[in-house]
Amino acid sequence: MLYRANPLKRYAPWLGSWLLVSCVGVVLITQSELTTIREAFETDARIAHRLLSQRAVQHDAVLSTLTLLRSADTQAEPEQRLSSVYPQIISILRRSRDAHWPTASLQAAETESRRFKRAALAEADFSKGRYWVVMGAEPTSYAVLIDIHSMVPWQEWPAQPATSPVRMALDYGGQAFELQPGGVQFQRASPGVRQFDFHKVLATDSQPFDVVAQRRVGWDELPWVMMLLWTLLVAALLQVVRVGLRQATDRRRAEELLRFGQVARLNTLGELAAGMAHELNQPLTAMLANAQAANRLLNEDPPDLHLAQAAIQGAVGQAQRASDVVNRLRHVVEQPDEQAKIQAVDLQVLTRQALHLLEPEMQRRSIEPIIQLAGAPFQVRAEPVALEQIIHNLLMNALQALDQVPAGERSLVLVLSTSGGSGQLSVCDTGPGIAVDVITRIFEPFFTTRPGGLGLGLSLSESLVAGMGGTLVATNRAPRGAEFCLNLPLA
Ligand code: ADP
Repeated sequence: MLYRANPLKRYAPWLGSWLLVSCVGVVLITQSELTTIREAFETDARIAHRLLSQRAVQHDAVLSTLTLLRSADTQAEPEQRLSSVYPQIISILRRSRDAHWPTASLQAAETESRRFKRAALAEADFSKGRYWVVMGAEPTSYAVLIDIHSMVPWQEWPAQPATSPVRMALDYGGQAFELQPGGVQFQRASPGVRQFDFHKVLATDSQPFDVVAQRRVGWDELPWVMMLLWTLLVAALLQVVRVGLRQATDRRRAEELLRFGQVARLNTLGELAAGMAHELNQPLTAMLANAQAANRLLNEDPPDLHLAQAAIQGAVGQAQRASDVVNRLRHVVEQPDEQAKIQAVDLQVLTRQALHLLEPEMQRRSIEPIIQLAGAPFQVRAEPVALEQIIHNLLMNALQALDQVPAGERSLVLVLSTSGGSGQLSVCDTGPGIAVDVITRIFEPFFTTRPGGLGLGLSLSESLVAGMGGTLVATNRAPRGAEFCLNLPLA
């Protein structure tokens, strides 16, 4: 299994989230806009249907009234004034009992009218925008010629016919009379984003025309600015979250480094070393003075044994004091309850944690660490904090070694494996390696070849590993570089 910290991978989840949230928002915005358009369209279509139905019903009423008036007063010709009241009625025909209709279709319509006892349609010619409605009655039957355009109550019409994006027409028997063309959307071949349709037959059987309304929504009608603003808003919000999370991670990392890292601990150890030198200097000086005095008193003739004994006593006291100082310091550095905290630890998880902590250091040096796991993940017996400290020290040393070679030649490989009853972590770098004459000394306290180095990292690590029943071994690698192999008993 290979693990490589890829910078692209870091942004992929954010990019993915941005795309997802943006797309969901864009779809919702589009849906909402389409719903608004559809509702407005349906309202207009229903109003148009109602207005046209009212007019059609009016025609039936007019015909009925005519036939009634005629039967009451045979001499009257009330139809002559109808056109002034109903401009859509452009012609009226009347057939008395013995007369004939001028055309067969008017005759057929009258037959139908008598059969169904209502007005009936004859000769609908939508190319001219006209149709006849006939009412058969005694003694006189009537037919009115309707002009469709004049039939539309334009003052009450729900749309501006010239500019409205809704196409409206009356359909009958394969003919269509266009009431309004429906704007540019209907001049294009493509139906655009969506097409809404409305069909409803007029509310009278005598004029069974289908009111057809259509609305095409073009791509240019979608709220692009709103969508753009949404995607920008999502990007901004995600950026805020990302920066917030990164700051939190950085803060946690800094706290971790402070908790067990080079920074605080080695600084403290450095101060301790200085303090130790200071504290030991006094008893050592006193011991020297006492030993010199005893030497002088014993060389006297006769030797002053009493005073020499007191001087030696004093030296012993000072030596005791020095020993106390050393013991006290050892207690500060050592962790006496380490054994108690030993538990099963996933070495791979801990290695990743240590790498995560040093991510900025790696990035600064253009190093992409590689983790190789030979076999299944395993657990070792260790004290987690101490183990992380050790891995951290080894990684820091490797980074410092890699500083000494050109950026293109830097590689850091961490190999996790098991053998026998133990689990191993090898930290391999392509730095300059360890000089042959110093390789035996690097685990000594205060041994360092680095200017400003304390020489405590490896010695501390080795004693911590030993405390957990493991080993830490350093070797050089061919053609170049060092390898530190950490061995711990398997859990
Ligand atoms: P410091 O890092 O303060 O020098 P350490 O105990 O960590 O103390 O290391 C002791 C010495 O071991 C270093 O000064 C260096 O010479 C050597 N050393 C440690 N790690 C490496 C490494 N990866 N490559 C080469 N030399 C190393």
